[in-house]
Amino acid sequence: MPDRDFSQGAAYVKGRFVPLMEAAVPVTDWGFTRSDVVYDVVHVYHGGFFRLADHLDRFERAMQARHLAPPETRAQMEDILHACVGLAGLNDAYVSMMALRGRPRVRGSRRPADCDNHFMAYAAPWIDVIPPEVQARGAHVLIASVPRVPDGSVDPTVKNFQWGDLTTGLLEAHGQGFDTAVLCDAEGFLTEGPGFNVFVVKDGRVLTPDRGSLEGITRRSVLEICADLGIEATIAPIPRALLESADEVFATTTAGGVMPIARVSTGHTTHILGNDRPGPISAALREEYWRRHEAGWHLTPVRRDLAET
Ligand code: PLP
Repeated sequence: MPDRDFSQGAAYVKGRFVPLMEAAVPVTDWGFTRSDVVYDVVHVYHGGFFRLADHLDRFERAMQARHLAPPETRAQMEDILHACVGLAGLNDAYVSMMALRGRPRVRGSRRPADCDNHFMAYAAPWIDVIPPEVQARGAHVLIASVPRVPDGSVDPTVKNFQWGDLTTGLLEAHGQGFDTAVLCDAEGFLTEGPGFNVFVVKDGRVLTPDRGSLEGITRRSVLEICADLGIEATIAPIPRALLESADEVFATTTAGGVMPIARVSTGHTTHILGNDRPGPISAALREEYWRRHEAGWHLTPVRRDLAET
C-alpha cells in the first residue's frame, strides 16, 4: 500500500505517482509560460469511468493537432488514469490528463520541436462546475460583454487552457452577482461558457451552437439521449436573440452533467425562464443522464489493481 497521503487526490508527474498537492509544473515549462498544453477531463461515477474511450480519442486528436507527443502510449495513459483513481481511493472523481510542451533541450531555443513533451494526470474528489444547489434552482447566467476568441485563432475543439476570454466573462458575471457567464462571438452568435457547453430549448426543439465550442462529451450524450427520447435536437447557429428569448437554457459538462439555467441576463435586462426554475426538458434530460449512469451506460470499471504497481 502507498505510504504517502493520497486522500486529496493522486497525480502522475514525469513517471512518478505523487499526492495531488505535490504535483507541479516547472516555471520554465512552455505548458505554463505559453499555455502550450492540451488536456481532457473524464469523470468517474460510482467506480466507473464515463465514456473513457471517447475522452481518450478527443485527447489524442488534441495532441495531434498541437504536435504534442509525450512518451507514454495511449494504453499506458489509460493505466495511469486507473492508477490515479485507485491510489486516491475514489468512487466519484474528476480525472484530468494533460500533454505539455515541456522545456527546450537546446538552451534558448524558440522551437517547439526542441522540447521534450510530457504527460501529466491526476484524480481528485468529484467537483461540480456549477454547485449542486445552484443546479437545483437553476443557474443565473450573464451574457458576458467579452466576445469568445475566434475559432480561427484558438480552435475550441482542441481542449485548451487559454481561458482569457472565459475568465474575463466569469469576473464580469461574479462582479454583478451572477453564478456564471456564457459568451457570444464577435458576430453575436452563442458559443459556450467557462467549462461547459450551452443548449437552448425553443418550441420543444433543442439546439446547441455549431461554433466557438468544444465538442463536449456530455453534449454528445445529451444529443444521443434526445434522439432516444424523440426530442428534436440540432447543432446549429444560435443568434443571441434566440438565447434571450429561449423557453429553456441548460449547460453541459463532465463535472456536473446537465445543469439547468433559470435566468439569462444581458446585464440590463434579465430573462427569467419558465417559472424561474429548471424547465421540463432540461429536467428530463438531467434525470435521464444520471439514470443511465446508474444503469452503467458507457461505464468502464476502475481497475484498482493498477494502483498497486
Ligand atoms: N466547453 C469548455 C470550454 C470546457 O472546458 C468543457 C469541459 O471542461 C466543456 C465545454 C464541456 O465538455 P465535456 O462535456 O466534454 O466535459
